[in-house]
Amino acid sequence: MPREPSSDSFGSWNPTSLGRLARWLVRHGLLDPGVVLVEAQRQIALDLRRGLRGLILANSGVDPDPRALERFEEVAAGGRLGLRFEAGVPVGLGPASACFEDGLGTIAAIVLVARLDGRWPRLKLCHAPECGNAFFDVAPNLTGRWCTTRCGERYRAAARRQRR
Ligand SMILES: [Zn+2]
Repeated sequence: MPREPSSDSFGSWNPTSLGRLARWLVRHGLLDPGVVLVEAQRQIALDLRRGLRGLILANSGVDPDPRALERFEEVAAGGRLGLRFEAGVPVGLGPASACFEDGLGTIAAIVLVARLDGRWPRLKLCHAPECGNAFFDVAPNLTGRWCTTRCGERYRAAARRQRR
């Protein structure tokens, strides 16, 4: 099973720079620390992110851009998955290697697993002003509205300002 993304991990996945993208992928075991990324790869990661956000918006009844979904599928198809066997735990999925393409393919696999095991409706977009990051809602009754407690504080502060 790919490592389950926490609210924090998905919320922070915004590849605004090559360094930020590489650090995130390495931190989540999706890229070898020695790999140097190039701008074309960051653009591929942005394509994956666009498609992923479209799929999440579809959870809220918004039709995703079909071109973004097509591109998401292309990026997903470029990654190879491997099986993980450990004593005492169920068989899991992970990147076949710690290369960039396999890491992104694993992110798409996380989407697949979440759809199959019923966690998919927990994937949401943050309501905080100027955030909009994706996160897994871990609240038992699906009431989570922001990706981090800091975003929750920003959301409440904005609501207080509007009431004045
Ligand atoms: Zn947020």
